[in-house]
Amino acid sequence: MLDIQKIRAEFPILSEKVNGKPLVYFDNGATSQKPQIVIDAEAKYYQEINANIHRGVHTLSQLATDAYEISRVKIQHHINAKFSHEVLFTSGTTHGINLVTNGFASILKPGDEVIVSSLEHHSNIVPWQMLCEKTGATLRVIPMNQDGELIMEAFEALLSEKTKVVTVNHISNALGIINPVKYMIEKAHAVGAAVLIDGAQAVPHLKPDVQDLDCDFYAFSGHKMCGPTGTGILYGKEDWLNKLPPYQGGGEMIKEVTFEKTTYADLPHKFEAGTPNIAGGIVLGTAVDYLNNIGFHNIQKQEEKLLEHATKRLLEIEGLKIYGTGKNKASVVSFNIDGIHPYDIGSIIDKLGIAVRTGHHCAQPIMTFFCIPGTIRASFSFYNTIEEIDVMVEAVKKAKTMLS
Ligand SMILES: *Cc1c(COP(=O)(O)O)cnc(C)c1O
Repeated sequence: MLDIQKIRAEFPILSEKVNGKPLVYFDNGATSQKPQIVIDAEAKYYQEINANIHRGVHTLSQLATDAYEISRVKIQHHINAKFSHEVLFTSGTTHGINLVTNGFASILKPGDEVIVSSLEHHSNIVPWQMLCEKTGATLRVIPMNQDGELIMEAFEALLSEKTKVVTVNHISNALGIINPVKYMIEKAHAVGAAVLIDGAQAVPHLKPDVQDLDCDFYAFSGHKMCGPTGTGILYGKEDWLNKLPPYQGGGEMIKEVTFEKTTYADLPHKFEAGTPNIAGGIVLGTAVDYLNNIGFHNIQKQEEKLLEHATKRLLEIEGLKIYGTGKNKASVVSFNIDGIHPYDIGSIIDKLGIAVRTGHHCAQPIMTFFCIPGTIRASFSFYNTIEEIDVMVEAVKKAKTMLS
């Protein structure tokens, strides 16, 4: 069992007061809090080894380059990528997805099809839409059922030799539903389509195995897994990364530049133009170590307990409806109360120190599907407690009384 109090003490922000009340932080789906070891690692980089990477022969530049590349290998092992050059540093999930859609602009033709799911974050819809507009390809959407689960029969019916790319999130940010990505990847590959998995919500809860999944691309952000903002990873299979053109031109991504012709650097540098977030990339490795030391098995056990308790307690409130009632779920509860706008509940409980997200969660099509303006989303992390959930439930009850 995890010693939650000991873990909480490692996160300075968790002992803060907000609006005079102890902070109850249930907005982990938007970004996670950072342990002291991550905060310290960021300062240590600037205090001790700050220099530009892959450039200088001088000692500090070498130290910074080594630390950056060690972090890449650490993340390679964490996600079980075959090669470290399949692991690209990005500024986040959004950057990773756009890198891929930009590459496919030179591959897709009119008549080709791209399949996205109806559970996607805007980050995994809009870039594909832009790609389809640019190339004349058609965007197709996998529908979901009332439990917020993707309908597999409908997905399989959409697949054909026209399908060039399938993209789906591993875990839905708005509802917490865990999608059967391994199955979907296998089906997509059977028609020769490439698959991108948006892992932004998965990486705080589980350790993805990209070789076992056999996905072609896997994108995630550092800031949702105890790492710094402005960091992320795009995993891509070597063959695909060799096939795709570079995303941005600039320093670091070239082999040779003349005004007649430029040749590109080898992977991963071909996709890493310019000076990256060096400190962030290194510290993302620290965050990955931190989570692995706690252990994803322990993280999941704690989060399952929180999900179960929150679901049970919230459903005691009359008129409360949970969205995303599918069986396979991460520790996210998205809900509404009859006749009350989610924003109003969110504002009242904020006054009581409770941070939840209200609104469409960057997933407007899901809200349209359920005919609602948005939901209140409580997303839990391993450092949250049963007591905090009880505090939230009481606050929601109070808000309900005030508003009805
Ligand atoms: C947060 C999130 C994104 C976007 O991540 P950024 O860090 O903002 O780039 C994409 N997809 C899902 C499912 C998310 O939860």
